[in-house]
Amino acid sequence: MPRMTTPRPLAALVLLMAAALAGCADSGAAGRPTAPPIIPVAEAAALPPADTATPAPPTATPAPPTATPAPPTATPAPPTATPAGPTVVPTPTPRPAGTAPRVGLQAGHLNASELPEELARFRTSTGARFGGVTEAELNNDIALRVQALLEAEGVIVDLLPATIPPSYDADAFIAIHADGSTASGPRGWKLATPWRASRASQQLLDAVAATYGPATGMPEDVGGITVNMRGYYAFNNRRHDHAIARTTPAIIVEMGFMTSAADRAVIFDQPGRVARGIALGVLDYLAQRDPSDGAALLPPDFPNLRVGEPGAIMRAAPSDDARQITRIDAGQRIFALDLRDGWYQVFSRDYPSAPGWVRADQLETTSEPFPFPTTTNP
Ligand SMILES: [Zn+2]
Repeated sequence: MPRMTTPRPLAALVLLMAAALAGCADSGAAGRPTAPPIIPVAEAAALPPADTATPAPPTATPAPPTATPAPPTATPAPPTATPAGPTVVPTPTPRPAGTAPRVGLQAGHLNASELPEELARFRTSTGARFGGVTEAELNNDIALRVQALLEAEGVIVDLLPATIPPSYDADAFIAIHADGSTASGPRGWKLATPWRASRASQQLLDAVAATYGPATGMPEDVGGITVNMRGYYAFNNRRHDHAIARTTPAIIVEMGFMTSAADRAVIFDQPGRVARGIALGVLDYLAQRDPSDGAALLPPDFPNLRVGEPGAIMRAAPSDDARQITRIDAGQRIFALDLRDGWYQVFSRDYPSAPGWVRADQLETTSEPFPFPTTTNP
């Protein structure tokens, strides 16, 4: 997506991020195993449409009769936040062993004009461009190359345009995008998961991150992960039908900046390296994952939270010693991304540019969900 180098107005940031969060989840906890999510009854009732709580059935592969996984164990609810009576979210059915893995490769912005009504606002979202090359063309070229590399290894690949099938389910979903800036300086690649990332999504990200840099020789755009990457519309199965299934491991790849000469020297002139960087990571992920671990596919879920009296302190890490980012007033609704050692990783509308950590005992549950107006298409 085109990135402005001038400071983005706060309002825009709020919108982008809100956008973002709508389905979603987090991964701030890099690779940290997440307990099977428990939705307290009262909170479950307050969640958006039931689609969120029900993993889409794996349409591609019939489950063998014996494959039903054990239900998630009843992990104790978060400290202060949850009333008793947890409802266990069903664990997705793992695919049968021996089935060829299926991967969805989305060429970002491709055929955007054909997006369905629910995504009509993105029909003119054609992404970055440089010279006569559109981002959709570049994304599609790379996606085709990745497809060839994966198929050579026996992977079934769905090449997808901007419109993805409703509740698209696969062993991995990779949205391929490129960046743009109003300046020529910004460069580098970055990856992001949905907001509330399953362990599988985080593992997919880690695997591609480990291969993309070495394969391309390009630097990572550290700190450049934008709220709109994680709020990507195709991740948002709460809000959109044309989104991935809740249990599909997913990442969005920003391959580099079309507006950077140094990046173009790779993404335009050596596309094979770019495709290889993505494909190798996907293959590593498929080789490393445990296909029988259905719980790894579930994104964490948390109650709707707001700040209690007398307010809360957001810190950079889950510790009283960590740097203070900001104070959040009592009553402010926040969106929980992770829970670790009695601390929630959260987003606050008061401070939308980064997530931070707040002590769980400074928060209380509420029936009101965090207000997310829209989703994004970076
Ligand atoms: Zn894009």
